[in-house]
Amino acid sequence: MAATVNIRHSVSIGVDADDQPLYAPARKIYPQKVTGFYRRLKWTILAVTLGIYYLLPFVRWNRGPNEPSQAVLVDLAHRKFYFFFIEIWPQEVYFFTGLLILAALALFMMNAVAGRVWCGYLCPQTVWTDLFMAVERFVQGDRRERIHKDEGPHNLQWVREKVLTHAIWLVIAWWTGGAWVLYFADAPTLVVQLATLTADPVAYAAIAVLTFTTYVFAGHMREQVCLYMCPWPRIQAALTDESALNVMYRYDRGEPRHSLKKSMSLRALGQASGDCIDCAQCVAVCPTGVDIREGANLGCIQCGLCIDACDAVMSKIGRPPRLIGYDTEVNVKRHASGLAPIYRIVRPRTLLYAGMIALVGGAMLLALIGRNAYAMAVIHDRNPLYVRLADGSLRNAFTVRFVNKKSDSRQFKLVVSGIENAKVQIVGSQQGASGADIVEVGPDQTREVRVLVSTQQPLAQSTPLKFTAVGEEGQTEAAAKDFFHAP
Ligand code: SF4
Ligand code: SF4
Repeated sequence: MAATVNIRHSVSIGVDADDQPLYAPARKIYPQKVTGFYRRLKWTILAVTLGIYYLLPFVRWNRGPNEPSQAVLVDLAHRKFYFFFIEIWPQEVYFFTGLLILAALALFMMNAVAGRVWCGYLCPQTVWTDLFMAVERFVQGDRRERIHKDEGPHNLQWVREKVLTHAIWLVIAWWTGGAWVLYFADAPTLVVQLATLTADPVAYAAIAVLTFTTYVFAGHMREQVCLYMCPWPRIQAALTDESALNVMYRYDRGEPRHSLKKSMSLRALGQASGDCIDCAQCVAVCPTGVDIREGANLGCIQCGLCIDACDAVMSKIGRPPRLIGYDTEVNVKRHASGLAPIYRIVRPRTLLYAGMIALVGGAMLLALIGRNAYAMAVIHDRNPLYVRLADGSLRNAFTVRFVNKKSDSRQFKLVVSGIENAKVQIVGSQQGASGADIVEVGPDQTREVRVLVSTQQPLAQSTPLKFTAVGEEGQTEAAAKDFFHAP
């Protein structure tokens, strides 16, 4: 069953919808500094993910002569993608399709196990927003200080701090765009070209666009991106179920909530009082301004910072931690009924996702292991399908593409089988030592040749043909199939 989600800013029932604005006015959120396990986890993930993003283009990988030495490179000029020992050619674009399917399945799996864990810890919008918020806090102070300064007179110090904050944001945004283009060319060379203003104008344009989007999304729009632009919260809400872990408030423990003073006096009188002292620390630290005590919310990115904030409060007032914590909807109901919690990570949904990940991952691995350094493709001439020659024989024409993924030149002999005594002519080929037609393909290159196949034999309308690229030692390097057409 899909979890119920409280969508803030929704249209109130009973009010004429035509009178409602399309969007709720954005309110500025001043997240408070917090310490604790989830904050440390987020810092660690932030450092690792940003470290990988900014430094990966500089990692070298030796592929031999004539090959780029950048570990991860999108070589647009030669239409190839390098990822450490893997080299993907344009005709192997199915690997990207497989990767996209794997990424989607991994997202579904994360969602089935721990809700919006992607949003809270790994999404680039979250990571960069977190970094920009840290800069803001470092320059302008913590929540109270920032509110006080923004509401107070905008003096010289206020202007100085705002200018400094935005300047640092722009430098981070610029470096984010700069790092992105380094994935498309040799990074050290491109850095020099960028610095000496000799790089391709496209590189400067890409950096400018990414600088702008990073600055706007992480500095200004922040949670608005999650609330209004990103489709994942809506998809996630439809995909999740009652057994997925999400950040939850324990109503059974927290309610009825009272101030600390009142709850202490109620307890002294032997009366019930919840553990929540309504201090609103969980709301103050929330980067999206959500009050998790109101229930599941589209704005909650499941970052866990409210858990840290509430745990600190519980520790101070001598109550057990995890009044807010990762739990399932099933357990929230079980807690309320006095039952022990149950956790069902292994269930049909997670087994299905795991099976699909194994299937797609396994198929990709097999394709990767079994891929050949050489390939060929054959395209039959569409018009005319066949030609009757003056000597009465029939001729079909084909375009044969040879692919050599090795870093040295290769010579192939083309063998066409399927029709006995067929005459095969390769237009523009050279003759090898054996007298056979040889096609030479340069290192890391493809080469197309026109092949004419003719026969005197009477044939059916369509006869299968096999084209084989035979290597210098007589071994089969690649093969492809097509048909010989007759009237
Ligand atoms: S931080 Fe904890 S105690 Fe304070 S309001 Fe939030 S849930 Fe209640
Ligand atoms: S409610 Fe808690 S988990 Fe959700 S976004 Fe806010 S701080 Fe993060």
